[in-house]
Amino acid sequence: MAPDDLREVTIGILAMQGAFIEHEKALQRLRSPRKIDVLQVRTREELARCDALIIPGGESTTIALLARLEGILDPLRDFRSHKPVWGTCAGAILLSERVENTKRGGQEVLGGVSATIARNGWGSQVESFEANLEVEGLRDPQEPFIGVFIRAPVLLELHPSHDDPPVQVVARLPPGLLPPSLASDNPDDAKAIVALRQGLHLLTTFHPELTPDDRFHEYFVRECVLPTIAAKA
Ligand code: GLN
Repeated sequence: MAPDDLREVTIGILAMQGAFIEHEKALQRLRSPRKIDVLQVRTREELARCDALIIPGGESTTIALLARLEGILDPLRDFRSHKPVWGTCAGAILLSERVENTKRGGQEVLGGVSATIARNGWGSQVESFEANLEVEGLRDPQEPFIGVFIRAPVLLELHPSHDDPPVQVVARLPPGLLPPSLASDNPDDAKAIVALRQGLHLLTTFHPELTPDDRFHEYFVRECVLPTIAAKA
């Protein structure tokens, strides 16, 4: 067997519903120092082969329902307790501990990020938009990253307890973009946060997989995935 620091890294993409093919293509385009094996995940056996997981945008309620029917919801909760997970849009909802504005009947989540998030938090007036984001930590950070927001969730509150890893803000909406109903004078207000990290996880309320810009995928691999593999070796 290849030593752990030479073997390829397997990144799964939860493929119940939503933009999983776009994530797959973005990962396949990456030029990573380690070979990346990309796997669509629909079963617990496939999940067990992964070093990390991406949960795509789509419809969080549907993804959770299909995951429950497939018997993979609890294995996913176990997975996120010790391996890196990146949730984009609907995936960000599933990674949050608490969700508001759920469909009737509620919303099952995986948790993992100490946040309360509101589904469709922009309201019907502002369903979809793009914003130029400044993101420290990406390659060429002076180049804005175009955030594509589609019926996106809004982070309402971060509530890490003393035992939780700290939350690191990765990107905020530029000032003036929050609709008046969400705007606040508090510069630390969570509602402007659109990308964050906590522990092993990355959460983005927008869709990096829907742009040809692969810098967020590169960031996830470099910052969240490879260090956990190196730590195991
Ligand atoms: N509004 C969707 C949900 O609740 C998320 C939208 C998206 O992923 N583009 O899951």
